[in-house]
Formats: sequence, C-alpha cells, structure tokens
Amino acid sequence: MQKYSLLPKEAKCPVCSTNKAHHLWTVTSKEAAQHFVLAEKHPERFADLVSHIEVLWGKSTCDVVRCDNCEFCYSNPYIAGDARFYSLAYIYSSYPTWKWEFQQTYDVLNKRSKSNLKFMEIGAGDGAFVKRVAENIVPKENIFCTEFSVYGREQIEKFGVKCFADDFRNLSNPELMKNFDAVCMFQVLEHLDNLGPLFQKLNWLIKSGGSLFIAVPNGSRIEFNELNGALLDMPPNHIGRWNKKCFEIIGSQNGFRVEDYKMEDDSFVAGVKEFAFYRLLRNSQKSGSFENQVFKIKNKHVFKAMKMAAFAVNLVLAIPVFTKKESRLGSSQWVHFIKTND
Ligand SMILES: [Zn+2]
Repeated sequence: MQKYSLLPKEAKCPVCSTNKAHHLWTVTSKEAAQHFVLAEKHPERFADLVSHIEVLWGKSTCDVVRCDNCEFCYSNPYIAGDARFYSLAYIYSSYPTWKWEFQQTYDVLNKRSKSNLKFMEIGAGDGAFVKRVAENIVPKENIFCTEFSVYGREQIEKFGVKCFADDFRNLSNPELMKNFDAVCMFQVLEHLDNLGPLFQKLNWLIKSGGSLFIAVPNGSRIEFNELNGALLDMPPNHIGRWNKKCFEIIGSQNGFRVEDYKMEDDSFVAGVKEFAFYRLLRNSQKSGSFENQVFKIKNKHVFKAMKMAAFAVNLVLAIPVFTKKESRLGSSQWVHFIKTND
C-alpha cells in the first residue's frame, strides 16, 4: 500500500461519536489471518482463524477508517479479538524486559510520597514492571495485577504479587472500588473495544486525584510502516490507533484530565532494524514470495540461516526508505491522566 484511499465513509467514532470518517484500507478475513498465521505453514490453524475472524466481524471484510473529528483510526466493525482469537493467532508469546513507558511511569511514581501507595497493572505480562515497582515504591501486598496468560500469571504470583485472571472490566469486588493511587495499562488499550464501560471501570478503580498511565503504539509510526511496505496494524488484534486529542476526549468523558503526554524518541539503528523486520514479515504474507518460501522451511537450522539472509536483503532495501522518514518516530506514546471526579 502506497497511500490510503481517503474516501469519505459513514462510521461512528468509538471515541468522539462523530459519524463522519475517511476510509484508509479494507482487509479480508483471509488477509487478516495470513498476518498472524501463514496458510502455507499452518493450513489448519489458518482455516480456523479465518472462520473465527468472520464470526467476530459478522462478515468477511473489515475496514480501517479515520475519524474526521478526533482522527482516531479504528477498525469498522470495532470488535476486539477474544480469547479464541489470541489462542489461534499467536503460537508463542514474548514479554518485554524494560520499556520506555515503564521508565516514564516509574519516574512519576518514584517522586510520590510512598506511604502506603496502592498500585494496579492491567495486562501485566510476566511482571517486569511490577517487580521494579515493588523494589522501592509500593510494597508487594499493595500491588494487584491482571493478566490473561497462565505463564505470566504464574511468574507474578511466584514473585508474591496478587494477579487476577479475569478481565479487569469484570472486577466488582467492593474492596477494589476507589482503591488505587495509580493504575497502569501498557500496550493494552489498542486491543480493546467498548471504550465507555472500559474507562468507567478505570474511574471506578482509581481514587479521586489518582493516576492512570496508558501507553499505546505511536500512530505516526504505524502510518509510516503501513505506507512503506511494512506490517499493517491488523484487526482484530489492534483495533484503535490513538493520539493526544483522542486521549483528551475520552478522558473528559470519563472523569480524567491529561496531566502529561509524551512520544518516545527513536534511534536510527533500532528503528531501521524493526522496520526491515516488519517488511520481511509483510513480504512473507505474500504467497510464493521469497520470504514466504523461507518461512515454509521445516529444518530449524536451514530456516534460521535463510531467515538471516532474507533479513539482510530486507535491511538493505529498507535503509533508503527509512531515511526518508521526516522525523524519527519511536514505538510508543504515553499519557498520564489524573482522575478529577467520580
Ligand atoms: Zn472521533
């Protein structure tokens, strides 16, 4: 894709409710499934994923559009992946060790008075962030997490922190109401639908004057990737592309104000490596391409060697494209909300 279609489209924005949008691109259930699981490598899993994506969408295609008012980019239908989608789409999961958004949040929390703070992380992975928070900011017994993955939950509980398996939107234990000084949610919001009840539940969890920290991918970087041969921001995994204005609107609707907002910087080396890798993955989705052939190789050692070769080719081709990028856009954007009312 070299440019978005930008045709006017009637669609209701999940953030600001405006009915007018512009169309960016359309994807079929097969193209979406191929993004996650290659048909040529895992044909049965691929077929199951296609069927399940069609169940989620209620049809065989999905549009991605941009709101004319707040510029939120969203899948239409705006429907998140469920547990079955993730079990089919991801064979392996990996967890970050330390990230830029962790540091931003850590720095804010570290400046607070630390007497008896109560802290919650939603979608806590294997606990990389809470383990650092527990070192000298919040005692373990005052930390609560939610995490879907069994492995992640085991790691967190082994460390001595309580971790719920439940979706945080289903938490109704009265002890949790207005219980937390800070709640954080890193790289989670872009996967979720039903934004009104979601932010109402966040409001329900947080004390008046408490903090909500959210990090999501950088929308400008996604746009650059999509328009330059790298991966598409594919629904129903990622269904919303956020920006500062969207955060201000959703915050004001749900009793939060934006205290701080930051974009991550990019380093050339890390940026171009990821861009080249995303182009490699995008190319691997095209049946019969060199990259697609490489991903079909069954012998582990041959696959590894050929994947390195394919990466080298993609890197050489990616460098001149990447250097055209107007500004160095990092991976994430980060927002710090303060709860203003109940
Ligand atoms: Zn909007």
